[in-house]
Amino acid sequence: MSRFPQSTVLGYPRIGPRRELKRALESYWDGRTGRAELDRVGAALRADTWRRLDELGLAALPSNTFSLYDQVLDTAVLLGAVPERYRDAADPYFAMARGTEGLAPLRMTKWFDTNYHYIVPEVGPETVFKLDAAKPLAELRQARELGFETRPVVIGPVTFLLLSADPAAALDRLDDVLACYEELLGALAAEGVAWVQLDEPALVADRTPDELAAVRTAYERLAGVAARPALFVASYFGHLGEALPVLAATAVEAIGVDLVNGAPDGLAALAGKTVVAGVVSGREVWRTAPERAAHALRTVAQHAGQVVVSTSCSLLHVPYDLRDEPDLDPELTARLAFAEQKVAEVVELARTGFEGPEPVERAAPSARPEPVERRSPYEVRAAAQAAHLRLPVLPITTIGSFPQTGELRQARAALAAGTLAAGDYERLVEAEIERVVRLQERLGLDVLVHGEPERNDMVQYFAEHLDGFAVTRNGWVQSYGSRCTKPPILHGDVARPEPITVRWARHARSLTGKPVKGMLTGPVTIVAWSFVRDDLPLREVTFQVADAVREEVRDLEAAGLSIIQVDEPALRELLPLRRAGQAGYLEWAVAAYRRATSGAGDSTQIHTHLCYSDAGEILAAIDGLDADVTTIESARSGARILDAVGSFGRGLGPGVYDIHSPRVPSGAEVEELLRRTLAALPAERVWVNPDCGLKTRTYEQVEAALANVAAATGRLRAEL
Ligand code: GLN
Ligand code: ZN
Repeated sequence: MSRFPQSTVLGYPRIGPRRELKRALESYWDGRTGRAELDRVGAALRADTWRRLDELGLAALPSNTFSLYDQVLDTAVLLGAVPERYRDAADPYFAMARGTEGLAPLRMTKWFDTNYHYIVPEVGPETVFKLDAAKPLAELRQARELGFETRPVVIGPVTFLLLSADPAAALDRLDDVLACYEELLGALAAEGVAWVQLDEPALVADRTPDELAAVRTAYERLAGVAARPALFVASYFGHLGEALPVLAATAVEAIGVDLVNGAPDGLAALAGKTVVAGVVSGREVWRTAPERAAHALRTVAQHAGQVVVSTSCSLLHVPYDLRDEPDLDPELTARLAFAEQKVAEVVELARTGFEGPEPVERAAPSARPEPVERRSPYEVRAAAQAAHLRLPVLPITTIGSFPQTGELRQARAALAAGTLAAGDYERLVEAEIERVVRLQERLGLDVLVHGEPERNDMVQYFAEHLDGFAVTRNGWVQSYGSRCTKPPILHGDVARPEPITVRWARHARSLTGKPVKGMLTGPVTIVAWSFVRDDLPLREVTFQVADAVREEVRDLEAAGLSIIQVDEPALRELLPLRRAGQAGYLEWAVAAYRRATSGAGDSTQIHTHLCYSDAGEILAAIDGLDADVTTIESARSGARILDAVGSFGRGLGPGVYDIHSPRVPSGAEVEELLRRTLAALPAERVWVNPDCGLKTRTYEQVEAALANVAAATGRLRAEL
């Protein structure tokens, strides 16, 4: 086996430094350009990445970390796990990712505790696995033509199966999947590949004995392949725990461990192995403290056969290059590292060896005082709200955003560039609010929203108006497919210098006699979707944000808004992957939410919105938020949430259609979902709404979809 080179990264951003891939994808999907142009853009991005990593001095370059949509979907294709119903689509790959006319896409969900989303594979007894290694081989050969030997990166068999829609059924197919991986290893060996990286992040969560047995089976079998590259099994997003000795007992040559939050126990099991030491965070944008990294490297070196310096996970989760941010305060810049700078850190740590002084641990500062609860019990509030709001049964509402038109985006850019006067911009936003209000009135919705036209993004917008945050110019990070977010950087103490949303909410309210819902982003989501300072406990930072949101809630209420939605779509995102940490997290996350909302009076109806369907498992925490109404994704995930909601004692709006896809739901589909909802919940607590905000859709799609929703609701109301 060849020695693993001294430095590497587990993966790299792929959307392009200027989101070139996003533009190429969207143009291809719209039919403006053909497949050849999309492939050309992809190839150019890969070539640029390899050249840059090489220039920076990185010793081992990964390949197959590029994706046109998602690496888990790529793995499904690699293994032939394409469900029958997509096989005849014009483009099965994008049909699985996005759906086509009459065909819903595969489910999508969060990638561990990140804000990246993957496509959930469907694996069952009927799946016919068949290796299709075209993509990794093509990338390998492309790199070779450019003069680079690379290490193909593929999701490992255990993680792939555990991420499938039905993990237990999928694990039954382990043998067949392993046959594909064996064949893949053979094909890579035939190409002369020295190392392959198999990503197994699922191993950092709690695993059952059966699942650990699957790990043992998988890696004993793969290590037993006669002609194969050396095997590097990468774990990330936490510690391997019980999986570490299992993996270490197999004959895999290298194991990747996440050392950003300190070295785990049990490293002695790694004796003789190559350890790919993730000491530079792939998740955060702060510079690596060299003494802490060197300390972790020294700890690992006591046990390992060889130590390779690496990132803790793929750099997919950070922006490309800090040099693209000339507007940032130099004092802040000095604290930051983006992907390029992190590669340089990895290279430097590998160069200087692991010597250095022992790190000094920081003392955690004391926490903020607990919030004061002011609201009456739910039943009391519900009565006050019913009397005050006088809504019909099955009230129809939306989640907040309406389509963001190109005109608005251009206007915002012009405002930022100084070519559009603030007054002109404000008039444009007001006109858009009026259009959204009129549209909702015409469609017969009951609780209206202003449509969020002034917001580029539900977190960035608030970050731009709060002290303690910086926003970047080019700091895009992939969220799913072509969608990116630009996480703000929360670097200092948070405060709200003045009201943020009140003027727009007030404008919407002035236009209509129907109730208008104020729209805020919750404290947990603001921190979850930002890069957050690491010199204070996350709980403490979140409470600071909660206090700013609390001030905004009170100002909206004072401006006459009787319904205020505080979104927490990311509540579950920060949930620790291991059960041991979950209760403690949920306790402070819920406390932060209540801190933000408990300043409202009893007759003010607080809504919250959550963006995921795996809510059953944290329903108690959602209940703990104490919101009067919760709207939640449901349609996209096959209404699974309905199995769990029986005990939920407040207003609930399980989404009646999936907004991630351009497909317009039929009235019959919506009606069917509503009937199922009414079978699970008493009608007086049911709300009717889409799964999520509408900003990624067109007005045409939104109008057609909401008209069908209103018609279906009307039919059901007539029956009640
Ligand atoms: N209010 C936001 C919107 O409608 C919520 C978005 C979200 O949940 N991600 O866009
Ligand atoms: Zn949502």
